[in-house]
Amino acid sequence: MKKVAIIGAGLSGLTAAWQLQQAGIAVVVVEAKATAGGRIKTVTGKRGTPMEMGATWFGPQHVYLQQCMQALQLQRFQQWQGGYALVEAQGVQELYTMPPHSEPYFRIAGGTGTLIKALVAAVGEQHIHYQTPIRQITHQPQGITLTTRQGTTYTADAVILALPPQLAAHQIQFTPPLPSLLWQVMLQTQTWMNGSIKFAVEYATPFWKNEQPISSIFSDKGPAVEVYDHTDVTGQYVALKGFLSPAAQQLTDMQRKDAVIQQLVQYFGAPAANYLSYTDAIWWDEYIGCNAEQLRLSPHQNNGHPLYAQSYYQQQLWWAGAETAGHYGGYMDGAVEAGYRAANALLAGSLHAKMADKPV
Ligand SMILES: Cc1cc2nc3c(=O)[nH]c(=O)nc-3n(C[C@H](O)[C@H](O)[C@H](O)COP(=O)(O)OP(=O)(O)OC[C@H]3O[C@@H](n4cnc5c(N)ncnc54)[C@H](O)[C@@H]3O)c2cc1C
Repeated sequence: MKKVAIIGAGLSGLTAAWQLQQAGIAVVVVEAKATAGGRIKTVTGKRGTPMEMGATWFGPQHVYLQQCMQALQLQRFQQWQGGYALVEAQGVQELYTMPPHSEPYFRIAGGTGTLIKALVAAVGEQHIHYQTPIRQITHQPQGITLTTRQGTTYTADAVILALPPQLAAHQIQFTPPLPSLLWQVMLQTQTWMNGSIKFAVEYATPFWKNEQPISSIFSDKGPAVEVYDHTDVTGQYVALKGFLSPAAQQLTDMQRKDAVIQQLVQYFGAPAANYLSYTDAIWWDEYIGCNAEQLRLSPHQNNGHPLYAQSYYQQQLWWAGAETAGHYGGYMDGAVEAGYRAANALLAGSLHAKMADKPV
């Protein structure tokens, strides 16, 4: 095996690239966007507060993710879940004591983006080609050719698809076509969190931790339907972060910001109006796309389907990506698991091939 091309510089593609490099395999990661990370996107506020627009939390059960973090010497810290939950339902606001959680939730110290930064550094920037959206994959006896939207070509001995399967089905033309059963499964694989809108408001002080400390808010009115404390690991950089209702997509950027601040002022009074920065991310607008087909799928539908554990094109095409993971499909843990699985399967496959090539 000389060179492996990996499509997608998200958590899964980067994990696979890193694993293969450690085994001495040359890799090139081709990424559609100008930055790595995919559904992991940490923005930095005016005061330096790391705020997550994408993946944020993980639990003790997410062992693949934590193994990867350990290898990269990244620290975790516990999400604050104490104080009260403010619940707004049918115009009535009530405070509930947060139940003591048997299972804590964690975040990555410095923001989830530090995981991507560490992986990019481990793989090496020079092996990641940005703004390289793949539109065509052609399998030929001498290897696989990838063609970008701009018409540039890459040849490789094997390819790992590390993007959401439904997106691959919509964006990439495969020659020869992939098996029709796999194609159907790809079209019906739900892309986790596709369609969500996340926001964060950065503040100088955590006024929500005053007399009656509030660690989360749930509202049936919105536009913010869930809000959580987003204090960083040092305790010095603070924000409120959460999800907006889908209807907020109809609002302009300014209208969304104003509506969220107004809602927070209703709960906390004047201090909430004194924000430092506001950011949101509409994942419908992002590369993942959103269409009627996606909306009909149930959460995690076909995530971890056994067809994703198989190889195609004579062991030259493999799947990674969170949605293909056998455990915790759609989540960061699944992304890491799938990255390891693809790299290890490819290595095992190429070893078999080498042994078969040997004269007896
Ligand atoms: C709002 C939100 C909140 C989330 N919260 C959590 C959470 O709290 N905990 C958790 O565990 N998980 C969470 N997730 C899910 C988590 O982000 C994903 O599981 C993980 O990041 C997926 O990684 P991936 O590499 O499989 O895919 P992606 O991150 O989707 O990466 C795929 C990459 O492929 C690229 N690409 C796409 N098409 C092409 C193409 N044609 N050519 C080249 N490149 C292409 C994309 O640009 C992208 O960089 C959340 C996701 C979102 C959106």
